[in-house]
Amino acid sequence: MNGQDSTEIQYVKGIGPVRAAVLKKIGIDSLQKLLYYFPFDYLDRSRITKIIELPKLVEPGNEVTVIGSVFRSEVKYTRNRKKIFFLTIKDETGYVTCVFYGAVDWFQKAFEVGEILAVSSVPELDKYNRVQFVHPEFDRLKTKDEEDETDWNSLLHTGSIIPKYSSGEELRNAGLDNRGFRRILKNAINNNLNSLTEHLPREILQRNTLLDIYSSIKMIHFPKSYAECDHAVRRLKFDELFYFQLLMAYRKRELKGELKGIQFKLERTLTAKLKESLPFELTGAQDRVIQEIHNDMQQPVPMNRLLQGDVGSGKTIVALFAMLTAIENGYQCALMAPTEILAEQHWRSIRNFLKDIPVNIRLLVGGQKKKLREDVLQDIRSGTANIVIGTHALIQEHVQFANLGFVVIDEQHRFGVSQRALLREKGKQNPDVLVMTATPIPRTLSLTVYGDLDVSVIDELPKDRKQIRTAVRFEKDKAKIFDFVRTEVKKGRQAYVVYPLIEESEKIDLKAATKEYEYLSGKIFPEYTLGLLHGRLSSEEKDDMMQRFKKNEIQILVATTVIEVGIDVPNATIMIIENAERFGLSQLHQLRGRVGRGAEQSYCILLTDENYTKRTLQLAVNRAEAHREVNVTKKRLETMVETNDGFKIAEVDLELRGAGEYFGTRQSGLPGFRIANIVTDADILRAARTEAFALVERDPHLTRTENKNIRKEFEFVFKDLLSFVRVG
Ligand code: ADP
Ligand code: MG
Repeated sequence: MNGQDSTEIQYVKGIGPVRAAVLKKIGIDSLQKLLYYFPFDYLDRSRITKIIELPKLVEPGNEVTVIGSVFRSEVKYTRNRKKIFFLTIKDETGYVTCVFYGAVDWFQKAFEVGEILAVSSVPELDKYNRVQFVHPEFDRLKTKDEEDETDWNSLLHTGSIIPKYSSGEELRNAGLDNRGFRRILKNAINNNLNSLTEHLPREILQRNTLLDIYSSIKMIHFPKSYAECDHAVRRLKFDELFYFQLLMAYRKRELKGELKGIQFKLERTLTAKLKESLPFELTGAQDRVIQEIHNDMQQPVPMNRLLQGDVGSGKTIVALFAMLTAIENGYQCALMAPTEILAEQHWRSIRNFLKDIPVNIRLLVGGQKKKLREDVLQDIRSGTANIVIGTHALIQEHVQFANLGFVVIDEQHRFGVSQRALLREKGKQNPDVLVMTATPIPRTLSLTVYGDLDVSVIDELPKDRKQIRTAVRFEKDKAKIFDFVRTEVKKGRQAYVVYPLIEESEKIDLKAATKEYEYLSGKIFPEYTLGLLHGRLSSEEKDDMMQRFKKNEIQILVATTVIEVGIDVPNATIMIIENAERFGLSQLHQLRGRVGRGAEQSYCILLTDENYTKRTLQLAVNRAEAHREVNVTKKRLETMVETNDGFKIAEVDLELRGAGEYFGTRQSGLPGFRIANIVTDADILRAARTEAFALVERDPHLTRTENKNIRKEFEFVFKDLLSFVRVG
């Protein structure tokens, strides 16, 4: 897009003031924005199904498109006098009926016999085994009286490709359905393309074999072939990724170049003791990563490092080595965790690791008694607290450190960018920062998301670990599952039973878990002690419950998703997840990661409703969407059964959800990409990154003539984000 003044779009042929006003509502208020309103898909001849072929396509459940004319439209009544609308479409090979149960009056008016539609849906069978479409999506290609020189003709006879634009009710009412958009975009491209400016210098275009901006815009809307379309898309994706990487380059430059950090020395007085006293040997990956962190710590610039490692890979101990090094140099450390349960756990386990090492470790969470809290705050202020572990409570204003030198943020994806920054700012000098995450990010992606951080990866689990066995089971299997739990508990093991967040309201959530807890403890496992853990318990109650579970005073812990992240009880070997179909993939992986943390064989049982598919389809208004949902759910559960590898799981998850949702745009500080896909476009991403970083080296202030337009464009794209960086 472009940083120029917006031009009135109402003067584009076919728009006018009324449509301009409607367009403005969806954010199209300039010619540039109109030209950047890309098609979401294309219709082409090779992807159109003949009606006669539909019966063969019922089983696979895939979406198909047919093109035909409206043959008949009629309303019928059911026995209990509900209206149903039937629309029959005809092509040269046969007839197919579309059924609409809702908004019957509207649909009845919407179609006219003789007009030509493209209809997309999943073909299904009606009760007489005839193929039908239920609530299909449709795209009007030609009205009844329109002259025959339009899209649809050229589509069928010359094989050209027709763009599809997303629209909405209000847009449609203003004549801006698919067809309307095709018209105005055609006009805008014919008459107003010069409202854009080429912003990339020729050498960058040439080096990366990119189309110029004018051809790209023209071809993404009206490609003559798929090759043209791909070429255009590649250029436009490059733009998005390039400016994003440019932002990363400036952030990194700023972090590295201008700030003065603490130059730690490796004294090894405390770390050597810790290494000696560990009950296990560090893995090669842990050793390597500790070294990477120690290297950073010795540099005069502040460290900003991301530590990535799958659930159970042993990140905590790595952080502890780094913190001890900071303490050897006379600095304080802070470790922030997203939940109280996790903060308490870290506090206990770190105290345990350091029981023979003279280090003062304090815990700060909400809901502590006033006296204790005052005491903790005093220790932080005076500097007698060497390690401070806590939740968000750590970033409150009245928490003042004497000399904070090292910051660890655990499960960093649970925090926003600003929360991380706030903790860093508690240091009088610029502390070194280590952020840790178990949400594994496909390698190519860490460049994009953490482009301004250095990344360390623990890619190896401790030796003693066995693969967790995972299975999908149903309600009818429960008796067997309970027997299995009994066998394991008799061997001395423990189990989790987890309930999903069923409603937004924690109350209902709690009710399901409470009911199950009562049932399990009263009827199924009267001989064992069960616990119920949920978000409404006070922090003391939660801590107490976790302690008892850790000591095996509780054998079976029924819980809501409060236990999702970080919890470490190596003796627990069974994870039962109720309504597994309701969880996201990364969440399932996190939950499963609560077992398999010791040497024993562990199991994960995904319970799901055997009628899930049927029910989902029955309840659905939009069949195509329901089919997609069912397939996605299936794929999630299959993936869990197939693999324990967090990276693979993350890749599938990204594929299923799309990057925007995966990262939560706001959380990650990641801009929403309109057409680039940071997973599948890894090669374009790398090219864009190389160019962006080289550019900042070459012309840091973007003052050279050939880069002036880059600067304008950059400021335009990131006008909301630029407080992060100073260009040059
Ligand atoms: P995560 O990376 O998921 O945060 P933790 O740091 O909680 O993992 O470690 C998981 C468990 O593995 C803990 O009980 C920890 O003490 C143990 N652990 C860590 N490193 C090793 C190792 N090298 N060998 C054996 N067990 C280890
Ligand atoms: Mg952890």
